[in-house]
Amino acid sequence: RMSAGKDAPMLTDAAQLISSVETFVFDCDGVIWKGDTLIDGIPETLDMLRALGKKLIFVTNNSTKSRKQYGKKFESLGLDVSEEEIFSSSFAAAGYLKSIDFAADKKVYIIGEVGIQKELEQAGIQYLGGPVGAVVVGFDRYLNYYKLQYATLCIRENPGCLFIATNCDAVTHLTDAQEWAGGGSMVGAIKGSTKKEPTVVGKPSTFMLDYLANKFNISKTQICMVGDRLDTDILFGQNGGCKTLLVLSGVTDLKTLQSPDNSIQPDFYTNQLSDLLAAKKV
Ligand code: PLP
Ligand code: CA
Repeated sequence: RMSAGKDAPMLTDAAQLISSVETFVFDCDGVIWKGDTLIDGIPETLDMLRALGKKLIFVTNNSTKSRKQYGKKFESLGLDVSEEEIFSSSFAAAGYLKSIDFAADKKVYIIGEVGIQKELEQAGIQYLGGPVGAVVVGFDRYLNYYKLQYATLCIRENPGCLFIATNCDAVTHLTDAQEWAGGGSMVGAIKGSTKKEPTVVGKPSTFMLDYLANKFNISKTQICMVGDRLDTDILFGQNGGCKTLLVLSGVTDLKTLQSPDNSIQPDFYTNQLSDLLAAKKV
């Protein structure tokens, strides 16, 4: 890992990076796809890495879909990825509640979309009716004042009520045209009304990394985390002791990476994931 103040180098030896790890963990939006559009060269790159015996895992902070729905998205983009290789922040919320043995007689109040509902159902966790033992806050395009008020009451009036955030991304790229307020805006609203800090289960929290490393029996030092966002993906990899590769195909440009205001430096950066195909030519 680079120390703060020293700029990350451009990736020049893809073969060396690939041979230094057993597993690649990929962020999705900005690395694999942009919105609903596959980024150039992805199928070939994933094929090459699989042919070299690498384990491939996909991690997204977007809570609006369940793992199963992401499975369908990969399929629709022509990528052969199984549900077990996908970790979404909606799944992380359900996984976190399971990991703490969330009481079977309590319910969850969700600010969020269908992805979180489906993952809680899959985990056997109730989310309708009361009493509420946890509020899970994710990205919600149907947020309104009464949802905020109900979540606030649950947390403020019930000292045992958990406050869980799927992710705190400031902005997202729902479309290529512009940045949209991200999950961090919904979480920020509840922080504002409760003065409480949430337990974040998405990146950069290492919950998903620990979970998948445990599940597949992978050593985190044998992982290269690839992402386009510094304060979620790259920090996530660094928090877990992984190697990190920033791709410039998403939200971060070279100017931002090299700005004196940025203290998060990946091990390497490169334009896009398919630059790893250079390893084939040597
Ligand atoms: N949250 C929402 C609502 C999004 O639309 C996106 C990206 O499209 C993200 C989070 C970030 O997803 P990822 O972690 O795959 O970059
Ligand atoms: Ca991303």
